[in-house]
Amino acid sequence: MKFEWHSALWNTRFRTGGLPQSILFTAMRGTGESAFAERVAVSRLCAQPTTNGDACGVCDDCRWFAAGTHPDFRRLDPECAQDVQSSSIDEESASGERDKKRARIQISVDEVREAADFLRLVAHRGRARVVLIHPAHTMHIAAANALLKILEEPPPGALFLLVTSQPARLPATIRSRCITIALPKPTASQAAAWLHAAGLPDTELALAQVGGAPAAAASLGERYWAVREGLLPFLSGRDPSWLDAAARIGDTDLAHLVHLLQTWCWDLMSTRFHGSVRYHQDRSVELARTAPTIGSTELADFARKLTGAKRLVGHPLNPKLFAEDLLMSYSHLLPKG
Ligand SMILES: [Zn+2]
Repeated sequence: MKFEWHSALWNTRFRTGGLPQSILFTAMRGTGESAFAERVAVSRLCAQPTTNGDACGVCDDCRWFAAGTHPDFRRLDPECAQDVQSSSIDEESASGERDKKRARIQISVDEVREAADFLRLVAHRGRARVVLIHPAHTMHIAAANALLKILEEPPPGALFLLVTSQPARLPATIRSRCITIALPKPTASQAAAWLHAAGLPDTELALAQVGGAPAAAASLGERYWAVREGLLPFLSGRDPSWLDAAARIGDTDLAHLVHLLQTWCWDLMSTRFHGSVRYHQDRSVELARTAPTIGSTELADFARKLTGAKRLVGHPLNPKLFAEDLLMSYSHLLPKG
């Protein structure tokens, strides 16, 4: 997939060969950063790239890449590592349920070692061998150390593409071994046009929910909107029962819950101090009514609690308690009676 806002960068740096061996792409999350790295990867694997430097889309290499079976390509992505066994984790830290759960949101050292073995082989197709790591900041510290060893002496023909929205969370040693390229983000009109073309009904509100990142807006999904609808009466104090609100949150909705609470709190503060709404633009009336009734110190404390909750959202010990604790805390902010 190509994005208009990447065109100028592609044309100046990727259209012709001569890439550095290790590239760190930094980008605002959800602006097509993964698609851009894939575009670079497949352009190096393709047998007959176009004059624009893009993959042809029809050769064997392109078809294998699209099917996820190209022999000279590896993708390290925690989403793809659901079945990591605890043995590798046990090596690095005390074992336990939490570590097993954490394995699903981190790139493990075993995956990096497997990629290292893959890079020692001769390229099946005689061109590049490409390793794409996304999101790179989810590498376990041992995984990052293993990667560093490879980056220090990269095998000939290897291309490393690291992608992250949080470069500060990568070790400085890794960053110093890569050429960093910041991917541009879309203008508001580019993002809206892309979403409109993708068939999203309310592009403006969807974009607002995620701070203007179009790919993130497109991936919100029906469940996000259902959780939002279920929560808004509680958040605005119209339906004050936190237990009722919690009953509408499923175990897999926690990321949506934390995102909604964070953006709602941001809007409450912004409404109170600047009279403006950033995320929930369709609820400005309710925000204006609720904001003056909530103490700003208490709201700031709750926002800090949410920051902590966001770190646990992928592996809470008890999803139900996790949701109830947040919603009960929010209910304490609302005026009584
Ligand atoms: Zn091709």
